[in-house]
Amino acid sequence: MTTTGLKVLGSYIDGKWIVTNTENVISIKNPANGSVIALVNRGGAQEVDLAVVAAQRAFHSAEWQNMKPYDRGKLLYHIASIIRENKEELSQIETMNVGKPLKQARADVEIAARYFEYYGGVADKVYGESIPIEPGIVDFTVREPLGVVGHIIPWNYPIQITARSIAVSLATGNAAILKPAEDTPLSALKLVELIEQVGIPNGIVNIVTGYGYEAGAALASHPDLNHITFTGSVETGKKVMESASKNIVPVTLELGGKSPNIVFNDCNQTDALQHILQSIVQNAGQTCSAGSRLVIEKNIKDEFVEKLANAMQKLTIGPGLEDKDLGPILSEVQFKRINHYIELAKQEGFKFVAGGNRVMVNDCEEAYYMKPTIIDDVPASHPLAQEEIFGPVLTVTTFETEEEAVSIANGTPFGLVAGIWTENVKRAHRIANQLQCGQVFINHYGAGGGIAMPFGGYKKSGFGREKGLETLRHYTQVKNIALKY
Ligand code: NAD
Repeated sequence: MTTTGLKVLGSYIDGKWIVTNTENVISIKNPANGSVIALVNRGGAQEVDLAVVAAQRAFHSAEWQNMKPYDRGKLLYHIASIIRENKEELSQIETMNVGKPLKQARADVEIAARYFEYYGGVADKVYGESIPIEPGIVDFTVREPLGVVGHIIPWNYPIQITARSIAVSLATGNAAILKPAEDTPLSALKLVELIEQVGIPNGIVNIVTGYGYEAGAALASHPDLNHITFTGSVETGKKVMESASKNIVPVTLELGGKSPNIVFNDCNQTDALQHILQSIVQNAGQTCSAGSRLVIEKNIKDEFVEKLANAMQKLTIGPGLEDKDLGPILSEVQFKRINHYIELAKQEGFKFVAGGNRVMVNDCEEAYYMKPTIIDDVPASHPLAQEEIFGPVLTVTTFETEEEAVSIANGTPFGLVAGIWTENVKRAHRIANQLQCGQVFINHYGAGGGIAMPFGGYKKSGFGREKGLETLRHYTQVKNIALKY
């Protein structure tokens, strides 16, 4: 592993770049070929402490408290424009660190800019209410910031999730501490380098790099945090919630999914096919809201699945910088997780209609590329159709009645997103009403939805909402003021 000549990138705390120990750092790999592309500070409890002290001081400072919401909004607009000016560099960083094709990274960077614009516009519109009590009393509520809000984020959409976390925190007047995933901190670090240029007071935005069990655990258990948002797996989410509960720190959990696309025989199959394909291959299936279950009416299944498999065979696979359709899987760990399910399906004799194997790419022998895969006729209760595989693997399950379709769609521990494909509007609404998930798409599917659509889970996909105006509730607290005259 060559690391000579690589500078160690620091955590960003209180406006300073901090490297605690240059001998003990985290190597960051390019998933496209396995090479080490950066070294990053291995932050832990000490850095988290520094960040919390700095953020509390900055939050309570006169400079931050007296800043008009409109001026906070202008700072966010400024960040959006700087992101756009640096779009290509940020996209390349994201592709080299996460592996995703450049076109997807560019789309992610544009979304990051839009988060800052959207919440920049919101900053001076976080209203309270006036409540009629009785003559002689003026009663009203104000929405106040919480204080210091922590964010622990995953590796699959780092620039998007960093932007959504910081933009809403600042729009609502909080100070933020973000811990990126240990594998993919580079775009978050670049983003704060850009944010430094707009003149936000030191300590309002902090990034502590490090491992989950060190920096992440220290942040989740810090007693002086005022809120924590965790985006990641169910198992880690439980730990974060448990740690935060000891300090009565409120939590938002954005967890995994096993999202179905429910396809009826009266749908526009061309549209359905395109969206369903995209929903499982985007970011090589490493997407919380991937459409990873095809739940399809029995009498069109064979025809539809054959067309889907044909379309999948045509997709190109290779390094993200070459901008193929699918980039690599993030790491060996993630590849093994996916492969565990592929092997399970093979052992149990399931039919692979497409894929089911690793792909070797020239000069990338240290990397993990996977053929997009369709596994046919998977019973709804089988682990393949119940557990998050987090790769380009689609399971197919059939139904014969509407009731059965709903029951299969709802029949996993998750409830993040669902797609419904039918030309029958009444049926589409009937089903949408019965689905236990945070987002429903009828005759389209946007993994994760747009920035203005509230996003979050039912059941084990978590609770609380990110995105849109809905999330403002989670980053503010309500004070009621009653004045008697
Ligand atoms: P993960 O749970 O392994 O890690 C997520 C983050 O938690 C990382 O920053 C990690 O360092 C940190 N962490 C690990 N152990 C910790 C601990 N003990 N205490 C505190 N923090 C700790 O998840 P991942 O593999 O990075 O991401 C994949 C998962 O994230 C999938 O389940 C996916 O569905 C989910 N996800 C959800 C959303 C959403 O918005 N709902 C978005 C993206 C990803």
